[in-house]
Amino acid sequence: MTRMLIVGPPGAGKGTQSKKISQELGIVAISTGDIFRENIKGETELGKEAKSYVDAGNLVPDSLTNRLIEDRLSWDDAADGFLLDGYPRNSTQVQAFDEILARLGVELDIVLELTADREELVSRLTKRAEAEGRSDDNEDVIRHRLEVFEQETEPMISEYRSRGLLKQVDGLGPIDEVNARIMEALKA
Ligand code: AMP
Repeated sequence: MTRMLIVGPPGAGKGTQSKKISQELGIVAISTGDIFRENIKGETELGKEAKSYVDAGNLVPDSLTNRLIEDRLSWDDAADGFLLDGYPRNSTQVQAFDEILARLGVELDIVLELTADREELVSRLTKRAEAEGRSDDNEDVIRHRLEVFEQETEPMISEYRSRGLLKQVDGLGPIDEVNARIMEALKA
C-alpha cells in the first residue's frame, strides 16, 4: 500500500508516468488537472468555476481544489493507497492536505519529483498542444504555467524534501526508461 505524490513542472511527464505507476503498484491515480478538464468539458458547476483559471494557466482557488481532493480521497478506491498528480500545488494546499490526511488517519509515504530542463518542457508542451489541442497549451500560457510552477510549486517541493519524503528522478528520455528509473527509486 502506497500513498504518494508525483510532482514536477508541466510537461515533465507526470500524467504518463502516473498511469504506469498506478498499474504497477495497483493504486488509483488521481489527477486534479484531469478532473478539472473533464468537468470543463462536461460543463458541470465545478467546470464552470474552474474554466477561466485553467484556460489562463492560473491555479484554481485553493478552497475549491482542497474540497475536491478531500471528497475524492474519501472514495473506496483510495482507501488502500493513491497516487496524486497535480496536488498539492502550493504551500497553502500542503497545509490543507496535511489536515485532510490527518482526518483520514493516514500518512504520505513518498513524494516523487520528475525533473526536466525548461527548454525541453516548452518543446514537449508545444508538441502536446498540437496533438491534444488542450486549451491551456498555447505558448504564452505554457510559459505562464512554468512561471506559476517556479513561484508557487517549487517552494512546496522543498517542504517535502525537508520532511525526508522526496525522491528525485530524471524525467528526460523514453517513457519506459523513465519508468524503470522511477520503479528503481521507489524500491530504494
Ligand atoms: P495539470 O494538468 O496538472 O497541469 O493542471 C492543469 C490546470 O488545472 C492547471 O494549470 C490549473 O489551472 C489547474 N489545476 C490542476 N491542479 C491544481 C491544483 N492542485 N490547484 C489549483 N489548480 C490546479
